[in-house]
Amino acid sequence: MKRYFGEYGGQFVPETLMRALSELEEAFLNFKKNMDAKKELEYYQKNYAGRQTPLYYAKNLSSRIGCRVYLKREDLLHTGAHKLNNTLGQILLAKFMGKKRIIAETGAGQHGVATATAAALLGMECVVYMGKKDMERQSPNVERMKLLGAEVVSVEKGSMTLKSAINETLRDWVKNVQTTHYLLGSAVGPHPFPVIVKYFQEVIGKEARKQILKAESRLPDSVVACVGGGSNAIGIFSGFVKDSVDMIGVEAGGESLELGKHSATLTMGRPGILHGALSYLLQDEYGQVADVHSISAGLDYPGVGPEHSYLKDIGRVRYDACFDNEALEAFRLLSRLEGIIPALESSHAVGYVIKHSELFKDKLVLINLSGRGDKDLGIIASLEEKNV
Ligand SMILES: *Cc1c(COP(=O)(O)O)cnc(C)c1O
Repeated sequence: MKRYFGEYGGQFVPETLMRALSELEEAFLNFKKNMDAKKELEYYQKNYAGRQTPLYYAKNLSSRIGCRVYLKREDLLHTGAHKLNNTLGQILLAKFMGKKRIIAETGAGQHGVATATAAALLGMECVVYMGKKDMERQSPNVERMKLLGAEVVSVEKGSMTLKSAINETLRDWVKNVQTTHYLLGSAVGPHPFPVIVKYFQEVIGKEARKQILKAESRLPDSVVACVGGGSNAIGIFSGFVKDSVDMIGVEAGGESLELGKHSATLTMGRPGILHGALSYLLQDEYGQVADVHSISAGLDYPGVGPEHSYLKDIGRVRYDACFDNEALEAFRLLSRLEGIIPALESSHAVGYVIKHSELFKDKLVLINLSGRGDKDLGIIASLEEKNV
């Protein structure tokens, strides 16, 4: 199996994890070939998660901005975002491997909730590591995870955020690798994780391609998705990568493109190693991982999946940034015009199209609406208080 995308990817991990990674790779190859496993995955995708998700022609937004916009409605998936595609798939993979225990790290808690959900469904023990600071900031998600039966471990070392949570999860994995599957949340990390996560998110692209062909009898001119670690984007792009369709990955431009004020990794970063893989990375002049900022927690990550780095270098996908205020404007506009409150993450993709509507004039544009925005109402309310 391909360990690298061009020069990106690889397995930059301690020796103790190499066996776990090759065991995982082998199991994944068998899982993909196993008809029963495939059927079980499809069963839960359909009857539990609510696939396929609709493809919706956003006629009001379209006439406002002068292009034809379709939204792939991952916001309508159970738990409200595409993340469940991955957690459901990986938990079935873990079960296939005979593992009984799932561990995961979470920043804002979205991945933790999606993991705890799928773990509850399949009766797996679930431990989620979360920085102490994040637990304070995201207490509703901590409550959700507990309700779903997960144990949430407060990480009180280092930054007490996602970075230290990842370290603790890795430590747990090294110790308990016999019984435990590490459920990584995006198309990042050492091989084979980026390949596995992509496999479980490809369903977005497969469905969207069929749906748009049915609706329009042709492929879209452009496909647009937001990029944090890059899992929803790689999922929808995979359906169109072989076609002559323009693809755009939209990163969080934050407040500005000054170092520390954004998380536009591919737009502003340079290659480096983070979480076991070589990929574009936001780093300071000394090569230290930079602080990042985004109004949306899901895009607030200094790295990005290795395949995106490759797609950028070969010029197959264009990556650009959308600023906090532009994403907010898109959030409000889509809510008003279509009755769809998008996740702030997804609002970056919508915001990019609105901002560049001249570029897309009369074109057929497909946007991946990766999640719904109910989780973001607290942020919106606090901004409204400040009159932003
Ligand atoms: C987590 C999240 C993202 C970012 O993750 P990717 O791996 O880049 O897809 C985007 N949108 C929503 C709604 C999310 O919850």
